[in-house]
Amino acid sequence: MINYSKQSIDKQDINQVIKILKSDYLTTGPIVPKFEKKICKITKSKFSVSVNSGTSALHISCMALGLKKNDIVWTSPNSFVASANCALYCGAKVDFVDIGEDLNIDINLLEAKLRIAKKKKKLPKILIPVHFSGQSCDMKKIKKLSLVYNFRIIEDASHALGGKYFNQPVGNCKYSDITVFSTHPVKIITTIEGGIATTNNPNLYMKLLALRNHGILRKKYTKNSLKKVRSHFDQILLGYNYRMSDVQAGLGISQLKKIKRFVSLRQHIRKIYDQKLKFEEISIPKLNQNVFSTYHLYVIRVKNNKRDKLLKVLKKNKIFSTIHYIPIHYHPYYQKLGFNKGDFPQVEKYYQECISLPIYPALKKSEIYFTIKTIKNFLIKNK
Ligand SMILES: *Cc1c(COP(=O)(O)O)cnc(C)c1O
Repeated sequence: MINYSKQSIDKQDINQVIKILKSDYLTTGPIVPKFEKKICKITKSKFSVSVNSGTSALHISCMALGLKKNDIVWTSPNSFVASANCALYCGAKVDFVDIGEDLNIDINLLEAKLRIAKKKKKLPKILIPVHFSGQSCDMKKIKKLSLVYNFRIIEDASHALGGKYFNQPVGNCKYSDITVFSTHPVKIITTIEGGIATTNNPNLYMKLLALRNHGILRKKYTKNSLKKVRSHFDQILLGYNYRMSDVQAGLGISQLKKIKRFVSLRQHIRKIYDQKLKFEEISIPKLNQNVFSTYHLYVIRVKNNKRDKLLKVLKKNKIFSTIHYIPIHYHPYYQKLGFNKGDFPQVEKYYQECISLPIYPALKKSEIYFTIKTIKNFLIKNK
């Protein structure tokens, strides 16, 4: 069986998990802050807060930025539902910005939509750009627009841990308030379930810390820094139990040691696909300049209404490719909120054509070439 993505767990990972299982603290121990320090180091961010899922990280990021009932959040329709659901959790309204050629939010459409929204006094409070497949959005342009139209930015970098933008790590928050990662098993590294929020803003850090732990702050906030105060356990906000356990954080530390290799193995696979999938009816991913993608996904577009047929043939050959994503506004829940088919034509066209091919560090050479051969044979048979 060949999946579209899969975790890579080795002996080191297993030993690390066993070690923590035998230690004094399974949760709220010393390993979680250790993991967070390592995340800060590789993302070049000042602060990081680990939680029990990427979705939780998105939720508390919206809360930390003060998202309230009837506020507006914009995100990409080409994402997992969590990118939009996080706004609904806060009682806010969601809208989408259609995608461009790179499958991320189209900056020109964003600008046009902002101009109209300003006139109608319906500007978003938060924009959540999604770095689809691990390719960073054009954050410089997004940041510029945020200064003109006064919105905050949460990067949904669930696909992009280990990625770069202008040679700097995604997650450094140079162009955003908060960056969110997921460490679900299909993502770049895994903590089984898990998520991380990074920020450079001490005030947001304090809020994120409190929100993941019932709203209780174990650290005292002083002007611009956080001091550990052991006796300080006041609940200051209404938060949740979104904590990551020490066992998971330990797995995360072990996985982080391999992140460079994981990403370069993904890059290696995408190079083979790029070279071998040169067919008229297939288009391969377009890479933006100044971006180093993690290739969490390798998405091809299949022309002439042949996508569903190809998916079936792949499945028959036990290659479980899939589609990323059903546009968020297509889901029945979102249709009930008032969205319609036809609202975002670019993502809808893309959705008819896309297939995510298998790509993950443990994918064998024979499996890569088998996938390519299966596609090639399909195209010859279905001319
Ligand atoms: C995986 C993912 C999430 C949610 O992460 P979980 O850890 O599964 O909660 C959010 N956004 C995107 C784009 C994702 O791919």
